[in-house]
Formats: sequence, structure tokens, C-alpha cells
Amino acid sequence: MVYYNNNLIGTIVLFEVMAAHGCKKLVFSSSATVYGWPKKVPCTEEFPLSAVNPYGRTKLYVEEICRDIYHADSEWKITLLRYFNPVGAHPSGHIGEDPRGIPNNLMPFVQQVAVGRRPALTVFGTDYSTSDGTGVRDYIHVVDLADGHIAALRKLDDPKTGCEVFNLGTGKGTSVFEMVTAFEKASGKKIPIVKAGRRPGDAETVYGSTSKAEKELNWKAKYGIDDMCRDQWNWASKNPYGYGDSTK
Ligand code: UDP
Repeated sequence: MVYYNNNLIGTIVLFEVMAAHGCKKLVFSSSATVYGWPKKVPCTEEFPLSAVNPYGRTKLYVEEICRDIYHADSEWKITLLRYFNPVGAHPSGHIGEDPRGIPNNLMPFVQQVAVGRRPALTVFGTDYSTSDGTGVRDYIHVVDLADGHIAALRKLDDPKTGCEVFNLGTGKGTSVFEMVTAFEKASGKKIPIVKAGRRPGDAETVYGSTSKAEKELNWKAKYGIDDMCRDQWNWASKNPYGYGDSTK
């Protein structure tokens, strides 16, 4: 219900307010989750779309709403950005991710293990048909992702722009074990792991094609896994309890 209320109802209200004020330009944060369990990789923007969980369904619905709005009124300019797996932090070490409760995503969890807040990382699935048996994703530095938005905003000023979709990823797949090793190297900390079964709903390998964004947005990710881990560790070591306070 929370996803539906925030992502779906919230966005519909936003569209109404924008239309009421004649503001018809939007960059929407979609997600690679709309590719569901892709039959092959890299995922290109033309792949069939599907929802494999309620979060993904809300992203897919909003994408469809955006396409409908554009078809009903071609004055709208809408850019849909399909994020792959954003990680890392601002290089200053002052801005980073601070999830509430137990982190669902891999890297916030790894970070909390590294600072001693959790004893071990549970690795969901070590029997996938990947190089080391763990799931493969396309991790992208948050600063590259931010730059992708600036490129998307520039594109909205192009009179030829209508409703367009772009992947924001690096085009490279990295396994869970490879990410853990890279974070251990960046932090100098050992990340103990516990091997567990697959997490229901998880895809085996997901990474994106970056060709369309390179060609049409003139944007390409600059940072690699080691940069992502370095900047995330810089944030984590300076702020082990995020924006909170360790006594609470
Ligand atoms: N993962 C894991 N342990 C965790 C969280 C995630 O092994 O505590 C794995 C997960 O199975 C997937 C990868 O790490 O293969 C990325 O998961 P995440 O939830 O960050 O992204 P998503 O699956 O939504 O792309």
C-alpha cells in the first residue's frame, strides 16, 4: 500500500498540479526493475516490460501514465530514466544513503557490516549460473546518476523531445562476491558472509545497454566499482550511523 500511495497516487497528484500550472516538463525516476527477469542482457530500452513485485508495478504504471499523458497532449516533454543499481556516495563524505531499519539492498547492508552495526552479510543465492554463483547487477555511482539527470534536463530543452526512455547504468555486470571483495579492498575491513538460498523474485543477471543514453543524452558513466566502494566507505567511515545518532 505504501508504494502505491507514494509512487502512484503521489505522482498522479503531481501531474495534476503540474498541468494546472502549465508545467509540462518532467524527468521521471524509473527503475531497471521494469525489465522483470530479462531473457537476455544487456537490457535495451525496447525490451518487453513486466512487474515482478509491487514496487516494480508502481514504476511500470507511472511509465505507462507518462506515455498516455504525452499521447493525449504532445506539449508534454517527459524523460523516463531507468536506474540500474545506484551505490556509492558523494565524494565529500557528507551525503550518502541512510536506510531506516534493516537495509534491503546489498551495498547499504555491506556498509553496515563494515562499520560493525551488523555481524555478517547474508548472500542470497550462490547457485546462479554466473561466474561465481551469485547474482549479477549493474552498479552505478550516484554521482554518475546525478550527471545523467543533468543530461536528461538538457534534453528536455530540445524541441524534438517527446516522451523518451533511457537506461542509466554502466553496461557492466558485477556479482555479489565481486562487490564484497571490492568493498573489503576499499575499506580494509573483512565482511563476514553467510550463504543463504535465493531471495524470492530475484533475477539472476541484470545489466543495461548504455548505447541510447550515450548517443542521445551524450552521457556515459565515468566511475567503476572501486570508485563506488571508495566513496561509499568514505561516507560510512565518517558517518557510521548515517544522519542519526548511535545512542538511539
Ligand atoms: N543481495 C544479497 N544480500 C543482501 C541484499 C542483496 O545477497 O542482503 C543480493 C541480491 O540477491 C542481488 C544483489 O545482491 O543478487 C543486488 O540486490 P539489491 O537488492 O541491492 O538490488 P536488486 O536485486 O533490486 O537489483
